Amino acid sequence: MSDFETVIGLEVHVHLSTRTKLFCSCPTTFGVEPNTNVCEVCSGMPGVLPVLNKTAVEYAVRAGLALDCTINNDSVFARKNYFYPDMPYNYQISQFELPLCGPGHLDISVDGGPTRRIGITRIHMETDAGKNIHSATEDKTFLDLNRASVPLIEIVSEPDMRSAEEAVAYLKALHAIVVCLGITDGNMEEGSFRCDANVSIRPRGSEVLGTRTELKNLNSFRHVQKAIEFEIARQRDVLEDGDKVIQETRLFDSVKGSTSAMRNKEEAHDYRYFPDPDLVPVHIEPAELDHWKKTLPELPRARCDRFVATWQLPVPDAELLTGDRVLADFFEAAVAQYAEPRKIANLMTGSLLREQNQRGVTLAEAAMRPEALAELARIVDSGLISAKIAQDIFGDLFTSGAMPEAYVREKGLAQVSDTGAIDAAVAEVLAENPAEVAAYKGGKTKLVSFFVGQVMRKMRGKANPAVVNEALGRLLG
Ligand code: ADP
Ligand code: MG
Ligand code: ZN
Repeated sequence: MSDFETVIGLEVHVHLSTRTKLFCSCPTTFGVEPNTNVCEVCSGMPGVLPVLNKTAVEYAVRAGLALDCTINNDSVFARKNYFYPDMPYNYQISQFELPLCGPGHLDISVDGGPTRRIGITRIHMETDAGKNIHSATEDKTFLDLNRASVPLIEIVSEPDMRSAEEAVAYLKALHAIVVCLGITDGNMEEGSFRCDANVSIRPRGSEVLGTRTELKNLNSFRHVQKAIEFEIARQRDVLEDGDKVIQETRLFDSVKGSTSAMRNKEEAHDYRYFPDPDLVPVHIEPAELDHWKKTLPELPRARCDRFVATWQLPVPDAELLTGDRVLADFFEAAVAQYAEPRKIANLMTGSLLREQNQRGVTLAEAAMRPEALAELARIVDSGLISAKIAQDIFGDLFTSGAMPEAYVREKGLAQVSDTGAIDAAVAEVLAENPAEVAAYKGGKTKLVSFFVGQVMRKMRGKANPAVVNEALGRLLG
């Protein structure tokens, strides 16, 4: 099968950042001592009754509204029955037949390309499980129930994506939305935003879906991309060998970059879903819904359009900045200080994102303030420092939070535009390189960049390039 089409549908689990769990008042704080956020309810003691966290419902509805979903005024919690040690009830409280949110959609584009509409099948609420901790030294498994019953929403997409790139674009857009809504911290490493990818292939033109596999353990956008690419190639090999793809769950190994079978769907449990008799249906008042609708924040896509319309930013830059609420807020604050949006955007998509990625420190954690970035753009424009120096000192400014002008003056990095000093340096360089001077005069005019480089070196990168060029022209002439 040489000409085939990839089909991907994603199931995304998002931790809601409510203060307390879904059915009790235990805190949801991450990374604390095991089993300190546990009570009778979330540890599943007999006879306890769950009480629904209203904020979790609000957050889930906000997600639904942002994804243009139908909101069901009445939805029902159901028990999903299976046995696993990290789930003390022996069932997960989820929603089945009547989820909170019905169909919706999300518009995405890959690298500023044409818009593609991805269907959202449903969004439902459910509880998270605890965590098994397998001892490395003893033949024992420990159980931490801190995460048990932390509220989750599951966002299920239609099988509408056609490439790994589209899947990643969808996930990034979704991530930006839920973070922008303020309903989750979105931390992928801590499991606040998790994704299972369902992947199949079929002959191009076919309307029938191929057999899918479900990929798990994808905790970064890169892993999603790699796992899907691997899986597409694997399924193609299987079909080309005349074999059949088996419907199964496969685990992604990020070290090997491959997926391997975890368990067959055939062996999967019948979950015996039924409505939870301990919980009344969730009812949403129209007035409440209306209020939530009216108080939705400006969503990333609208903000991106506004950035392009207001400041004529290139679409990829605007997408990058508005894909992260912290970046977008920072950008607007910096532009308010210094009205050169293109220059501010360049510093951010260049130096700032580089520092953020290399240091593994997000902008929210870094000390740099928008005022500092605005000032940096201003002192490059005024000629106090060169763009090169701005790049060199960016890391320091990013982590220290220093104000650029004071920093530059203190370190003696201000650019030299003084003709006297530059003329002297040029004269020295010409005297030290007679052969190159002769070659230049003989017609090798390209050598001018060699001279510029030498002068810059002599002046430790601080000479104003325009003045150096002018001086070279004059003294070589
Ligand atoms: P389950 O809950 O058992 O995983 P669902 O019917 O809820 O099953 O489907 C889960 C996801 O799988 C959805 O996102 C859906 O779009 C996707 N999906 C279903 N069939 C296919 C297929 N043949 N290829 C790719 N994705 C698929
Ligand atoms: Mg599934
Ligand atoms: Zn509890």
